[in-house]
Amino acid sequence: MTEAVSYCGWCGKPDGETGHELCRRRLALVDPPRFCPRCARRMVVQVTPAGWTARCSRHGESTSAPATN
Ligand SMILES: [Zn+2]
Ligand SMILES: [Zn+2]
Repeated sequence: MTEAVSYCGWCGKPDGETGHELCRRRLALVDPPRFCPRCARRMVVQVTPAGWTARCSRHGESTSAPATN
């Protein structure tokens, strides 16, 4: 159950490949990731006042902000 490969949250390609500078730059801004970094599934993204919430049907929710409260 090891998952050595991770995926770019912006373009959904394997993160080991080069060419993700632009993706990282976008993700470093307010843009939410669109793909799950673990399985590259397309995530359901919701923009919230605090940032964003992205939900993978398999891996659950991730958020830009640390948990509120
Ligand atoms: Zn990328
Ligand atoms: Zn996933």
